[in-house]
Amino acid sequence: MPELLEVIELGNPILRHKAQLVEDVQSNRIQTLVENLLVTVKEANGVGIAAPQVAQSDRLFIVASRPNLRYPAAPMMEPTAMINPRILAHSDETVKGWEGCLSIPGIRGEVPRDRAIEVEYTGRDGKLHKQELTDFVARIFQHELDHLDGIVFLDRIESTQDLITEREYQRLFPG
Ligand code: ZN
Repeated sequence: MPELLEVIELGNPILRHKAQLVEDVQSNRIQTLVENLLVTVKEANGVGIAAPQVAQSDRLFIVASRPNLRYPAAPMMEPTAMINPRILAHSDETVKGWEGCLSIPGIRGEVPRDRAIEVEYTGRDGKLHKQELTDFVARIFQHELDHLDGIVFLDRIESTQDLITEREYQRLFPG
């Protein structure tokens, strides 16, 4: 049975480590980690979660965009495990958009990201996938990829003026 994992928060040094490449996608450890991340991100109303957020320094994350309490306008997609993910190319256009992070509760920030990216990752079946992602899903991918390099969204904001509390965010954008 998949189990809910504890999400570590800003201040835990693991969030600042560079995560290691996954060598054996089919190993029990990695397959169990994927299962557990899938239930953990759903329970937390997240749209993505990276392995370092549960104190596992592996290059893998889940992208699970769907409308929920924290992101009412998110597009619907099948939750997808992305292992050893990379950005191959990106648009010149950047867009600012609101982000939160399960490891930084209570804060939202407006973060500039590339609007469109071409990405590559290994699926949990071991197959290599190439995909173009745009807008909100591209934003999730970039946010989660940053976690694998020890970067959090606070490092990407242009000004501290772009930070607000979760409560004020809910007032600005009532779901
Ligand atoms: Zn995050």
